[in-house]
Amino acid sequence: MIINVAHIPESGRKFHEEEPGEILGLSEADEFYAAGPVSCDLYAQVVDETLIVRGTVSVPLKAHCARCTQIFSTTATDSGFLRDFSGIQGTEEVDVTEDIREAILLSLPHFPLCDEGCKGLCPQCGKSLNGEPCGCGKIEKGVAWSALNSLKL
Ligand SMILES: [Zn+2]
Ligand SMILES: [Zn+2]
Repeated sequence: MIINVAHIPESGRKFHEEEPGEILGLSEADEFYAAGPVSCDLYAQVVDETLIVRGTVSVPLKAHCARCTQIFSTTATDSGFLRDFSGIQGTEEVDVTEDIREAILLSLPHFPLCDEGCKGLCPQCGKSLNGEPCGCGKIEKGVAWSALNSLKL
């Protein structure tokens, strides 16, 4: 996203723009990838030869759950986007694309979960435990009960 410095009035100017999701540089092989455009709700102002850009950037994403590996939909938002570019006198345009990319990447969770209560994968057969039970649990339970029974004896 290019901010045209020359066209910003003293009172500042609002920008509502969409950037293609590709600016994030993420692919389906990554933990997260863009499922739509990055929406930028920014307010730009020039104060003492410094361009100040602030606002909210957000993007719909697809993510791989860190527990069950399923792909789920989520949104990354940075509502505290703030950058300043000093010494912009004589500059006509400032490209904030890289800053937007960075803000989105920093807002991503380190441990994405499809659901807070995601049960993850069965350690024995690798099947997701969120859907139909895989059957391994039954065997384990049976073993646990027989161990308990033998204790009683
Ligand atoms: Zn999950
Ligand atoms: Zn299993």
